[in-house]
Amino acid sequence: MHRFALKIYGCQMNVYDGDKIRTALVARGWRESPEDEADLVILNGCSIRDKAEQKVWSDLGRFAVRWKNERKPIVAVTGCVAQSVGRRMAARFPWVRFVSGPRHIGAVPDALEQFFNERDAGRTIGNEETVFFLDDDPRAFLDLPGAPTERVNRWKAFVTIAHGCDNFCSYCIVPYVRGRFVSRPAEDILEEMRTLVADGVLEITLLGQNVNSYGSDFSDGYRFSSLLRDAAASTGVRLLRFVTSHPRDFTPDIVEAMAEHTDILCPSINLPIQSGSDRILKMMNRGYTLEQYRAAVSLIRNHLPGAGLTTDLIVGHPGETDDDFQCSVNALREFRFDLVHSAAYSPREGTSAAAREDQIPREVKMARLNEINRIQSLIAREINESLVGSRFSVLLDDVAPRGEGILQGRTPSDKVVLVEGGEELLGRFVSVEITCGENWCLNGRVLHVEN
Ligand code: SF4
Repeated sequence: MHRFALKIYGCQMNVYDGDKIRTALVARGWRESPEDEADLVILNGCSIRDKAEQKVWSDLGRFAVRWKNERKPIVAVTGCVAQSVGRRMAARFPWVRFVSGPRHIGAVPDALEQFFNERDAGRTIGNEETVFFLDDDPRAFLDLPGAPTERVNRWKAFVTIAHGCDNFCSYCIVPYVRGRFVSRPAEDILEEMRTLVADGVLEITLLGQNVNSYGSDFSDGYRFSSLLRDAAASTGVRLLRFVTSHPRDFTPDIVEAMAEHTDILCPSINLPIQSGSDRILKMMNRGYTLEQYRAAVSLIRNHLPGAGLTTDLIVGHPGETDDDFQCSVNALREFRFDLVHSAAYSPREGTSAAAREDQIPREVKMARLNEINRIQSLIAREINESLVGSRFSVLLDDVAPRGEGILQGRTPSDKVVLVEGGEELLGRFVSVEITCGENWCLNGRVLHVEN
């Protein structure tokens, strides 16, 4: 029996792909183990941000001593980091013997098994060659069938509904490393959701780089709102969330479907604004103006009062002036997001923004980032403090990193709630009264268990 360790870097899509790989290996008789006992370490990584990619590079160096002494572990690099820099990693570290891009996930378990069988038979040790599965065809996709039943979390799961993206925003590497946009068949998604529910999953988050575009490559008119309605009506899932939405494609039918199923479809939407300046939005190739973004926010808030609204915002895109930056500050004040995933622009090789000459100095980007974070902290605290005394139904799904005896869950609007409680409450829906609002979370007390 071979032992493997799996390390995930990056977004929920990497977590989902990691869960699928884990499930497939366990089904083939592999056992998950701590990293220092593993024959195989899989690094499933992200390359969307430079920081995530650097983490994979630095982790790879740590295997040198064990490799020298034991010729272990074999390292497999998978995910979009493999697609973008896997060849370089394999050239630098001899323990990287397996490299697979995200659109070859279906090939990974069998290929790993074959690799280890050959190695056990003594056929490759000594002059081993690295196995490469790179996604040369950006439209091809080799899926890994079956639901991820070996998950990081017992009660929550992710389900990818579409792969890749066709938008080519100026700063983004996704279309290059995750390929072109392709929707999964609805029946596959719904069946996977039913399997997860039968496995005890209570909350599912649907994933896509742009979930609103779901179905745009179908000819039968089936769209994202159709999928939301079918998922709410026919899978038995208790809570359903989704990320990420694109402001340009956010159409009324989506909020209409959400308003029809408020008991299941959580009223929380991540709507990345990226900049408050029309000039920068155009440079970014985002396909909307601030006025159009404003209309999407009105649509959400009119149909779903109390909905949580979060966003992504980049500061320091090449060419961003002080006036452009001020537009982003004004947008934060206008829209009063519950949470902002802010980032200083970092150039990603091969993207159009990386080739521009008007890059912003690092110290300017960091000053702008600090200012955004300062303003948003104040806004988030005001919003969270206004919720003191409110009551929510919350699924307690994990032990909080904050310490023993503290459990965490999320409000329907996607705010993290911390409560005191024993682990017997995990996987239960509880009624919670909010007692304190912090910048990043709410504290509450359990009033009663609901189920
Ligand atoms: S919509 Fe733009 S930012 Fe989002 S994944 Fe596609 S290219 Fe990247």
